[in-house]
This record gives sequence, structure tokens and C-alpha cells, in this order.
Amino acid sequence: TVGAVALDSAGHLAAATSTGGYNNKPEGRIGDTPIIGAGTYARDGACAVSGTGKGEYFMRYAVGHEVAARVSYLGESVEKAAAKVIQEDLKQHDIGAGLVAVGADGSITAPYNTDGMFRGWVTPEGEFYVATHGEVFPIKP
Ligand code: ASP
Repeated sequence: TVGAVALDSAGHLAAATSTGGYNNKPEGRIGDTPIIGAGTYARDGACAVSGTGKGEYFMRYAVGHEVAARVSYLGESVEKAAAKVIQEDLKQHDIGAGLVAVGADGSITAPYNTDGMFRGWVTPEGEFYVATHGEVFPIKP
């Protein structure tokens, strides 16, 4: 799965996700990725979310919408809302999962409950970074 989230200079949020699903998936299966509110979601004023992991659980928890709803209605930070869903809701089912998210304030978070997840981001100043596990590497374009 490849996911991207963005906040533009006008304050609009966007999310995009692409996946091949998982190995040996049932024929005709539609995963969470194309279902807005599950594997992919963005709402101006709240956050943009793109997730990876077993899609059936992303649908069950409406993960993208859940993170945005926690931000909007509970006033949680994107980081706290995303961590709750990944580290508690999905983790309790032993579902390896992660997501990338950006908030309306520009804050970014990329929690995962697996051994690692490749992430990359660009700061408002135009600096590039990638991270695998705990390590963060600056990239010189
Ligand atoms: N979420 C995707 C799916 O269930 C799989 C993945 O993230 O790799 O189709």
C-alpha cells in the first residue's frame, strides 16, 4: 500500500491511497482503500488520513473517519487520535496496521503497531525526510 496526505497553502486537506490488497484475497473483494472514511479520508478543518493494514478492520472501525471525528468532536490532536485507533482499537485484534495523517494545523503523524513502516515527508520549509523504524533520515534533493 502507498498512501499520501497533504495540506495545501489554502488550508485544504487531501488523502490518496493505492493498494493491491493482500495475498490470497477472496475474488471480488473490495478493500478499505477505495472506501472513503475507512482506508482513506480527508476533511478540511480536521485532518487527512491514509491507512494500511487488514482492510476489513479499517472498514469496521471506519478508521479514517474515526481519526477525523476524534479531532473534530473530541478536540484531540491528530497524533493522539491516530495513536488511539492504531495502538488500541486495531492492536487489540492483533491487526498489524499503520497510517499517515496530517492535521489542519500542519501537524503530521504516522503511527504503526508493526515492526516498522516506511514513511516520508516534506516540511513547510521544503526539507525531505524518510524513516523506517525509529530512525529518521534527511534527504538531500
Ligand atoms: N488495506 C489494504 C487492504 O486491506 C491492504 C494493505 O494495506 O496492504 O486491501
